[in-house]
Amino acid sequence: MLIALLSTITLVNFLSALHGYRASMAEAQRLFDRQLAATARLLVDMPVPDEPPLVVAQAEPLVLQVWSAEGEMLLRSADAPLQPISEFESGYREVNFSGYRWRSVTEFFPASSRWVIVAERADLRYQLAEKVILESVMPILLGLPVAGLLIWLLIGWGLSSLRQLAEALQDKRAEDLSPLPLQDPPEELEPVVKSTNALLARLRASFERERRFSADAAHELRTPIAAIQVHAHNLDSELRQYKLAQTPESLGKLQGSIERMAHLVEQMLDLFRTTPEHYPARFETLDLQLLAREALAEQYGAFAAKNQTVELTGTRSSVRGDRFALMILLKNLLNNACKYTPDAGRIEVSTTSADGGTTLRVEDSGPGIPAAEYDRIFERFYRVGGDRHATTAEGCGLGLSIVRHIAQLHRAQVRLGQSRFGHGLAVEVEFPQETAAEGGAGGHHG
Ligand code: ADP
Repeated sequence: MLIALLSTITLVNFLSALHGYRASMAEAQRLFDRQLAATARLLVDMPVPDEPPLVVAQAEPLVLQVWSAEGEMLLRSADAPLQPISEFESGYREVNFSGYRWRSVTEFFPASSRWVIVAERADLRYQLAEKVILESVMPILLGLPVAGLLIWLLIGWGLSSLRQLAEALQDKRAEDLSPLPLQDPPEELEPVVKSTNALLARLRASFERERRFSADAAHELRTPIAAIQVHAHNLDSELRQYKLAQTPESLGKLQGSIERMAHLVEQMLDLFRTTPEHYPARFETLDLQLLAREALAEQYGAFAAKNQTVELTGTRSSVRGDRFALMILLKNLLNNACKYTPDAGRIEVSTTSADGGTTLRVEDSGPGIPAAEYDRIFERFYRVGGDRHATTAEGCGLGLSIVRHIAQLHRAQVRLGQSRFGHGLAVEVEFPQETAAEGGAGGHHG
């Protein structure tokens, strides 16, 4: 736009300056010619002595000659040649003499029967005209850079809102569907901002609908699953009354499946509950070590059943976070560590605080995860090796997705690595240094 505008203005200005120069020059020549003719007329009745020619003083830059009709020189200016400057025929012409080019006018006046010739140096009159004309044309050319600068500034100013819009769009994170934060967009941009915001709102609504549908579905499934659980339990007790040698195998399998389904539904609900965009976090200052101890105590039975050694090390480490969400995070990590680590394995949980923030590490002596899977493992329903899991541990592939949601909620980083037991997984959750800006209830997600 800038280049197109500047070249257009330069071209137009240049053409108008050129036209102005040429038109003014032609007009100036006509003016000078009329002056020349007027001077000629002054000489018509000039009295001449009996012994012509009369030689008059030079009237720079003119030369004059007056001839009688018979061809006798009656008068001349001092510098005028003795020969007629031009042939005796009325009109303007260009002639050369005395080493210059001249513009001359020749006129015959019948009343006094005289030829008058007046000539003016062409180069001098040209210089004079040019000086006058250039003075009027120059400002047009000199104004060009000024116009260019002004146009550049104006375009920059006019397009700044477009740049702002681009920046606002660029700064948006993929999951951020809030309206664009542009206050008072200029009139031209209003439709763009409006329709972008409308689009974002529609997307938000449809995501919300979808999310709510899944959450509602999971929620609705809870009741029938609980009912089936009760029925299965009752069936178990009723069968016991018949004093069978052993309860049927199918009933055990049925109860296992129901439990898995109940777990899946709970995990799905946790996943939806902890979506960073929707989770209304109530942040408070918490001791991560204390939370870890609580979570360990809750799951102690599971570790004991597999005869696993669990250690809790590190220091008291404060984080600003949501108690409920952090407990879910810990539970999922501990549950995985317990599930995938074989009997009599080791598990270590540690919390450390440093200048950079607070770090939670959960390490186990299990099989670990191949590094190539580190990225995919956070996807929903993704499990290493799919359903035929090498460790035969049950799961639905949602645990680490939940962990990541909760980490995002706390602006924490989740990293996977090798545990210090040589093999086995180490999960590290690094919470940023709590800052004053993040203080206060409510956190950054409303
Ligand atoms: P789930 O455990 O319910 O399958 P997760 O999302 O918690 O789902 O874990 C995804 C996959 O990551 C698991 O299926 C498992 O293959 C692998 N995994 C998670 N934690 C561990 C661990 N501590 N040791 C080995 N593999 C793990």
